Amino acid sequence: TLQDRLAATFKGLRGKGRLSEADIEATTREIRTALLEADVALPVVREFIAAVRERARGAEVSQALNPVQQIIKIVNEELIGILGGETRRLRFAKTPPTVILLAGLQGAGKTTLAGKLALWLKGQGHQPLLVAADLQRPNAVNQLQVVGERAGVVVFAPEPGNGVGDPVAVARAAMAYARDKQHDVVVVDTAGRLGIDAELMQQAADIRDAVSPDEILYVVDAMVGQDAVTTAQAFLDGVGFSGVVLTKLDGDARGGAALSVAKVTGRQVMFASNGEGLGDFDAFHPDRMASRILGMGDMLTLIEQAERTFDQAQQAEMARKFSEGEDFTLDDFLQQMQQLRKMGSMSKIFGMLPGMGQFREQIENIDERDLDRTQAMIQSMTPTERRDPRILNASRRARIARGSGSSVSAVNDLVERFGQAQQMMRSLRGGGGMPIPGMPGF
Ligand code: GDP
Ligand code: MG
Repeated sequence: TLQDRLAATFKGLRGKGRLSEADIEATTREIRTALLEADVALPVVREFIAAVRERARGAEVSQALNPVQQIIKIVNEELIGILGGETRRLRFAKTPPTVILLAGLQGAGKTTLAGKLALWLKGQGHQPLLVAADLQRPNAVNQLQVVGERAGVVVFAPEPGNGVGDPVAVARAAMAYARDKQHDVVVVDTAGRLGIDAELMQQAADIRDAVSPDEILYVVDAMVGQDAVTTAQAFLDGVGFSGVVLTKLDGDARGGAALSVAKVTGRQVMFASNGEGLGDFDAFHPDRMASRILGMGDMLTLIEQAERTFDQAQQAEMARKFSEGEDFTLDDFLQQMQQLRKMGSMSKIFGMLPGMGQFREQIENIDERDLDRTQAMIQSMTPTERRDPRILNASRRARIARGSGSSVSAVNDLVERFGQAQQMMRSLRGGGGMPIPGMPGF
């Protein structure tokens, strides 16, 4: 399986320090094979591997993680990215009812999903109405009625006067019924065939036009193979959809094809089904899925812990220095800056800090490239220079400028700003708080 293969690959990586080019090559080759074997579509694999390779190459020597952990972390983060990053929630209409249309091939799990969604929505305080707009198969309406009964929700089925035989008329009548009976969510079940079918696709499009859905969920069986991407594309073109639901994740699905659907169509997976029971259903969490694909939840927890412990140790050391009256050095400054940058872009970080509104303009003007240059300059200094910048004479400054690809005046500038910040630190002492690199005055 994908898991075993990845585990074997990671076992081959050993030692400390930077990831070697050979390690990166060997690992990405294995991951590539593993993803292809799991039915992930080739373009998706290519993009994924390129991203992992680039990040692995650019990875700095980490003091918190060994190379194995580093590459697992990168692969995990890229996987989460492919899976959509954050969980996407249902979009509810401003004026009820919210309409959710289900589309997908026959057997994908639409009717079952209708029941699962209804139960889930009910649990959240909604009053869902299920609509039987699959009039293709003789027992389809009955199947939805059974599911609705189990979920304890109302099912709108065709009756004389409701448009027997015409799913579009049924859907339209259902909308009027929902408004009348104050159902705030309407879930419309539709027909599917075994393959892409122009007539059925048109029918789904007609139902769509009749009910103006807030969400169209494309339901896809996680067990399907490479066809998944082609089929999904046909549904995207023919009906359109706003989200994807993966079903049958409880089977021994390789899952890769379904995973590609989201990436190729640019629509996020919103829900996942893992069983025939109405409760076997939940919002889709990209991070959980990624760790499932990687098959190393424990390892990921370890990585998080290692990073957190390392960060905490650094912070504690910094706080100690501060309270004991030791001077803030360029090394401390560099560490603080790297810590903060690990969390994201500087302007984003500052944006999250309370009371930073008054600095909005400066914050927006923070240039990440400036930070790169500052980092490079400090890294070009010797440990002694970082501790005591006063020893920086002209020839040392020239050396640092050369080493960091910047100019002597930029080095002068950094030294001067650092001196000011150090002053500020001294005057702040006792008042708590750390100087924040990049802030005005620095
Ligand atoms: P539809 O044709 O798209 O409406 O698909 P159905 O809802 O009728 O489901 C087809 C079959 O798949 C049924 O036997 C369901 O019980 C089964 N099924 C649906 N969702 C899941 C799931 O998440 N896991 C498993 N194991 N079976 C499922
Ligand atoms: Mg059905």
